[in-house]
Amino acid sequence: MTALLAHLQVPGPFPNPVTRPFWDAVQNHQLALQRCADCRKWVFYARHHCPHCWSQTLSWEAASGKGVLKSFSVIHRAGHPAWQAATPYLIALVQLDEGPTMLSQLLVDDPTQARIGGAVSLRCVQVGERMLPFFEPSGDDHAN
Ligand SMILES: [Zn+2]
Repeated sequence: MTALLAHLQVPGPFPNPVTRPFWDAVQNHQLALQRCADCRKWVFYARHHCPHCWSQTLSWEAASGKGVLKSFSVIHRAGHPAWQAATPYLIALVQLDEGPTMLSQLLVDDPTQARIGGAVSLRCVQVGERMLPFFEPSGDDHAN
């Protein structure tokens, strides 16, 4: 599946000054999230101020790239024609270990491999000209 993804010509993402550190980390197969220096909570998606306490002292820190599958949907008809060749694929809500929920894709050969509450880990994949932050089942289950 990832070989097919490498040849897709999909639109975006379009990093801007606020989101560029996130995309730079993904390019290096890592997950970086903003963290508030005042309330210490993690923030995703990238923004100018903390959504928890309104502080503007956000900094970038390395995240674990681990989480659990919160929900998913099997996509048979892509939202953009460029993704149609990759169908069926799984759009996933991943509850990151750091707290925030991230919308991504879950890489599985068979949709029946997706399990709500199952442990997942980051797997950055080349899609067209960009690296994108997807997830895959990690095999080790969390306690919750
Ligand atoms: Zn805060």
